[in-house]
Amino acid sequence: MSKVRTRYAPSPTGKMHVGNLRSALYEFLIAKHAGGEFMLRIEDTDQERFVEGATEIIYRTMEQAGLVHDEGPDRDGGFGPYVQSERMKTGIYMKYAEELVKKGEAYYCFCEKERLESLKTEIVEGKEIMMYDKHCLSLSEEEVKANLEAGKPFVIRQNIPMEGTTTFHDELYGDITVENAELDDMILIKSDGYPTYNFANVVDDHTMNITHVVRGNEYLSSAPKYQRLYDAFGWESPVYIHLPLITDENHKKLSKRSGHASFEDLLGQGFVTEAVVNFIALLGWSPEENREIFSLEELVQEFDYHRISKSPAVFDMVKLKWMNGEYLKAMDFHRFYEMAEPYLKEAVHKEYDLKKIAAMVKTRIEVFPDIKEHVDFFDGVPEYEISMYAHKKMKTTPESSLEVLRELLPVFEKQEDYSNDALYETLCGYVKEKGCKNGYAMWPVRTAVSGKQMTPGGATELMEVLGREESVARIQAAIAKLEKEL
Ligand code: GLU
Repeated sequence: MSKVRTRYAPSPTGKMHVGNLRSALYEFLIAKHAGGEFMLRIEDTDQERFVEGATEIIYRTMEQAGLVHDEGPDRDGGFGPYVQSERMKTGIYMKYAEELVKKGEAYYCFCEKERLESLKTEIVEGKEIMMYDKHCLSLSEEEVKANLEAGKPFVIRQNIPMEGTTTFHDELYGDITVENAELDDMILIKSDGYPTYNFANVVDDHTMNITHVVRGNEYLSSAPKYQRLYDAFGWESPVYIHLPLITDENHKKLSKRSGHASFEDLLGQGFVTEAVVNFIALLGWSPEENREIFSLEELVQEFDYHRISKSPAVFDMVKLKWMNGEYLKAMDFHRFYEMAEPYLKEAVHKEYDLKKIAAMVKTRIEVFPDIKEHVDFFDGVPEYEISMYAHKKMKTTPESSLEVLRELLPVFEKQEDYSNDALYETLCGYVKEKGCKNGYAMWPVRTAVSGKQMTPGGATELMEVLGREESVARIQAAIAKLEKEL
């Protein structure tokens, strides 16, 4: 078997949709798993859809996601050019189109817009499709020549017989057979001289020795036409893997509005790149063992494309968040802090040691925006009910809490060392003396300094960050509150 070569072939039309990134990832994994080559080809033949800056997005996304290509516009591997508009200038598409014309598998069409508009249309998969009536197929060689010499605008169309069937094979969907009468004579070369995507992908995949093609199943309906092109040239077609649609939780197509349509959107929401890549890998593929967390290297090792499923993949935000949390827990602290800092700054406005706060929240959040709800009390104690001082397990009540706080206040006022360890020691000393359980003293102190049922650290950790002055002030305020409300 020839060396595995895959390609990611995006069109520069905007942000990188999650579905596109999944295709790129699977192509990368198939190639790397087999020790093969992964190539990037820019498909910019549709000049109308071209978006300024979109090529940069492609490069950036692939780099961020770790999908390093072996060949591409910026890395020559001997199969270039790697940009279709540049390939066009070499005359490659026209050459192959003419070859098909000679074989009777394609023909020149000079029909004008008005005539085409008068042709019958059919609704195929909800879209209005014009079935060309092969009018120009009957032109004689001389007529074609005369038209070309006269400079008449033309397109070149694929000549698909009216009878018979065409069969192609897809790894997920198996053999698919369609009636030729249902296939239209699609345009291979447009009037501006550019090839259509439909033609260019076949010529390019063949001439660039591509062995496996992974793409969205929106291309499934065109695949028989591609198969006919391969057959007409006498080329072996690559292994096709048409991926199922990715839907949202409501089984609807991912939309821009839902916020999870593009890779950029997800990173913008603070998701970690590795988590997103890991998550996308599992959108339609499952490993042999029941396991969810994979680094890219591990995916390369494990990825077997035969285990891709053809049922629609659901983008489960809850799962992505969970996965992101796992990545945050495992992340090196320095990187974590760098990413968390903007969120911390937004949530904490007083001069506290944000690094200490970051260390506290690291294992408690799933996504960075979660930080806010965990740390909002640092700016100020929120309104709370004194019933919060009652804790069954700790055997505390608002009354017992008032007593503990009154006794501890002078101790904390006197304390010099406000490190977590020293404060903890102080509290333990108090507990010992009083002959009570730790929680009996910790619970009221933590409640007093935070006003919250749940905090990202224990009482003394919070006090270390707050410092003496603020901690004491908060305990005093808590005593006053309890005195007033009891
Ligand atoms: N340029 C096509 C796209 O961006 C590529 C489809 C394919 O991979 O063949 O959808």
